[in-house]
Amino acid sequence: MNTAEIIEAGDRWVMKTYGRIPLALVRGRGARIWDADGREYLDFVGGLAVNSLGHCHPAVVRAIAEQAEKLIHVSNLYYIEPQVKLAAQLARNTCGDRVFFCNSGAEANEAAIKLARKYARVNGNLDRYEIITALKSFHGRTLATITATGQAKYQQGFEPLPAGFRYVPFNDPEALREAVGPNTCAVMLEPVQGEGGVNVAEPAYLLEARKLCSEKGILLIFDEVQCGLGRTGKFMAYQHYGVEPDIFTLAKALGGGFPIGAMVAREEVAAAFAPGDHASTFGGNPLACAAGLAVVDQLINHGVVENAARVGAYFMEKLLEMKGRHPVIREVRGKGLMLGMELAADGREVVAFCQQRGLLINCVNNNVLRFLPPLIITGADVDRAAGILEEALKSCPGG
Ligand SMILES: *Cc1c(COP(=O)(O)O)cnc(C)c1O
Repeated sequence: MNTAEIIEAGDRWVMKTYGRIPLALVRGRGARIWDADGREYLDFVGGLAVNSLGHCHPAVVRAIAEQAEKLIHVSNLYYIEPQVKLAAQLARNTCGDRVFFCNSGAEANEAAIKLARKYARVNGNLDRYEIITALKSFHGRTLATITATGQAKYQQGFEPLPAGFRYVPFNDPEALREAVGPNTCAVMLEPVQGEGGVNVAEPAYLLEARKLCSEKGILLIFDEVQCGLGRTGKFMAYQHYGVEPDIFTLAKALGGGFPIGAMVAREEVAAAFAPGDHASTFGGNPLACAAGLAVVDQLINHGVVENAARVGAYFMEKLLEMKGRHPVIREVRGKGLMLGMELAADGREVVAFCQQRGLLINCVNNNVLRFLPPLIITGADVDRAAGILEEALKSCPGG
């Protein structure tokens, strides 16, 4: 099918939950991707922080192909070799001890919400159920996770929302302290907010959140679905802060494009779940975990996290230089290869211009350009992207 045919069929048959860009991508390799008409693009969207190893990384392709020949799925009634190996890898490289596997970020956060409530319950705190989250956060699209999400636009039209969530401004330690009450069982935060505009937590904020939770005997949950797994230049974003959560969640990059999510907890917290308390049919199946093992191996043992730190710092430097030349740029922020550029103009025009010139980028909140390229990109890729972006900014009103 060519681009026009794919778009026509998509508009006719697929539910209209996405405001789609009229582009059909059919093939990828590394940081390059091609549309159905054969046009090549440099991909700085990266499946929205999913394709951290680039497209069709040979190690991931091999792991999936080999596992598919052996065993694709088996019930969680039985022990699963790739699952136990991936759980061990995640526990050994983080502050977590035990892992629950699911299929997406929203499901990982649902599992975290359930575990936090159950943990309070089994420890005799029968009236602790409330979870405090941040404004501008994003935690997923299920009913509980849109409620956890501190943005009204994701909630409107889906009321009544589940009870037990409360919001505080991000990076405001006093507001957080004031919000914790007798019903609070946990605080859930993204160390770097993604969908909310690439907002980086202040070190003092996460330190204070940790102190507060320990003091009150409530749980600190980090949603690392977007910022985890090397994205910020460390394996986990919380490692920049010297602050360890009781529970953290992963998804996006974990399977290299294959769907998988994980909720990871400290031993004492994980112990609140008994057999039968939570489950997922596909969660942690052999194929997904084989993909996850290949991804984690590349991240940790093949220098991918270090590359994200190095190339991310270089890209940040380039963006800051651009800020000096273009008054339309309000702020450049982020960590590693999770970077944002806030504009005093509509960012969607910049996105369209870049696409015309062969560069895919994303825009959140209509005015924050978000860059989530594969973590395997080179300085030359950054130079090329920065060149196109600069041209786009020149063409911007007030650029
Ligand atoms: C994308 C995202 C989610 C939701 O993940 P899905 O796989 O789409 O359910 C949750 N939290 C954060 C921080 C995310 O970026």
